[in-house]
Amino acid sequence: MSIELPEARILAGQLDEALNGKTIEAYDLKDVERMIRIGFVNKDISEFEEIKGKTVKGATSRGNTIRVRLTDSMNLLIAPEYGGVITYLPEGGKAPKYHLKLGFNDGSILTTRITSMGVIYAVRDESLKDSYMYRRDFLGGVSPDELEYTWEWFRDAIGVVNRQLKPLLVGKDAHLIGLSNATFQDVLYRAGIHPKRKATELSEDQLQALYEAIKHVIQERLRLKGKHQFKDIHGNQGGYIPAMGPNMKDKGCPKCGTPIEKLAHGGGHVYLCTGCQKE
Ligand SMILES: [Zn+2]
Repeated sequence: MSIELPEARILAGQLDEALNGKTIEAYDLKDVERMIRIGFVNKDISEFEEIKGKTVKGATSRGNTIRVRLTDSMNLLIAPEYGGVITYLPEGGKAPKYHLKLGFNDGSILTTRITSMGVIYAVRDESLKDSYMYRRDFLGGVSPDELEYTWEWFRDAIGVVNRQLKPLLVGKDAHLIGLSNATFQDVLYRAGIHPKRKATELSEDQLQALYEAIKHVIQERLRLKGKHQFKDIHGNQGGYIPAMGPNMKDKGCPKCGTPIEKLAHGGGHVYLCTGCQKE
C-alpha cells in the first residue's frame, strides 16, 4: 500500500523517537542490481558507505518523503511512495525481508523494504536538491497539513486551472504534495466529484467540498494512525478505512446503492460511484 503524507509523518515521528542519538554500525543492501536499474537506490551504491559510523540527528517528513538526518551532513531519504514497509527491531534479532538493513550501536535494527515504486537514497546535504523526491516534497508545493493550506489558496491556485483534477492534486506537477492515487479516489468520492471533471468546471460548493475532504482525510489518517493496511515501524496496523478505493470493489455505494465502478484514469485506476460522482 502507498505511503502518503499521513503515513510518512507517522513513520518519521517514530523513527525520530526510536533512532535519535544512535550510531549506524553496519548496513546491508539486497537486490541491489535491480534497485539501481530502476532508480530506487543511489546509482553509485558505494555512497552508502558514508552512512557508516554516522549518528542519527533526527527524522522528519514532508509530503511522502522521510528524511533521516545523520551527523557529518549525511542523510537517508526514504520514500516508499507506492508501497513499502519500515520495521524497527529494538532488540535486534531476525530481520524481515528488506532492501536496506541498518544495524545500530545498541544492537537494534531498522529494515526498509520497497514493495512497489519508491526510493532509498544516501545523500549528502549539498546534494539533496538533486533528488527529485526531495525537491518535490521538501522544497515545493503546499502541504494539506500546513497553515498555508487555506480555502482561499485552494480556490485561487487550483480552482482556476482548466485541467482535470488529478494532475493538479497528485504527481510531479501537482500544486499539493503528499497525496497519491489512494487519497485522490477517496476525496473525490467524499466531495461527490467525477474524476474527469476539470477544476474550472466545478461549482464553488464542489471546490470547497474537495478542499474540506482533503483536509478531513489527512487529519483522520493521522488520528487513526494510518490506513488500514499500513504498518508502522513497530508492526502496529493503522485504522483508517478509505470511503472509496480498492476496498470498495464489488460493493454498492453506502450513500445511494449504485454498484462501485473502476475507471482507468490518469495513468492508474480510480474506483467511483457514478451515482454520486456525475461526469
Ligand atoms: Zn453513490
